Amino acid sequence: MGTKGTAGAKGSAGSKSEHGISRRGLLIGAAVTAVGTAALARTKLEHAWWRLPGVDKPRKPGELDYARAEWIAASTANWRRADRPADYDIDRVVIHVTQGSYRGAVKVFQSPAHGAAAHYVVRRDGHVAQMIRELDVAFHAGNRSYNERSVGIEHEGFVDRPQDFTAAMYASSARLAAAICGRYGIPVDREHIIGHVEVPGTDHTDPGPHWDWDRYLKLVRTAAASPTKGPGDPTPPS
Ligand SMILES: [Zn+2]
Repeated sequence: MGTKGTAGAKGSAGSKSEHGISRRGLLIGAAVTAVGTAALARTKLEHAWWRLPGVDKPRKPGELDYARAEWIAASTANWRRADRPADYDIDRVVIHVTQGSYRGAVKVFQSPAHGAAAHYVVRRDGHVAQMIRELDVAFHAGNRSYNERSVGIEHEGFVDRPQDFTAAMYASSARLAAAICGRYGIPVDREHIIGHVEVPGTDHTDPGPHWDWDRYLKLVRTAAASPTKGPGDPTPPS
């Protein structure tokens, strides 16, 4: 198909390129191209700022991405400075289970010897600790590109103990996940909210078969629909 119209199309394209574009048009075109190249170079530089020695983005100690969390800094050995979402798009939330206590998870994430940590740890009673800023890359998924594109949430407990996953924990984690999804425009579904077990190349099994995905996703959707309301919310200053 299409052989019939070829000759005609060729003819009209030829006449346009010879007479249709003025000298002024060409000059404007050249200027636009130069500006575009400069902007592209600047963007590339901004995206790579963390690779440059002596360049460091200013940040305030103790600053939170999630207002309901308590800030407890992880060891700098367990994450990498970045400028997400400017340098890496964030399109995944990765759900973990600590295989231990909240206290134990916080302690190992503070240890430079551990070599891994998640952005958040959710306690059995729903308390949330933020240990790494969302703009930084936490070493939690065991997969470089998944670390770069995701926010990791740890949950206190063991994969083989369904009783560890309390209603308070589900509700609190769901509010947190909804806030993360809202910030970066991440769809609330099982393609974008995944278990550590689903990260390519991982040998981890968390959150395990007892993590109630249907219940969790429903709670995330509810929280996403009314992000400003929730039980136990602090009263905002007027
Ligand atoms: Zn995990």
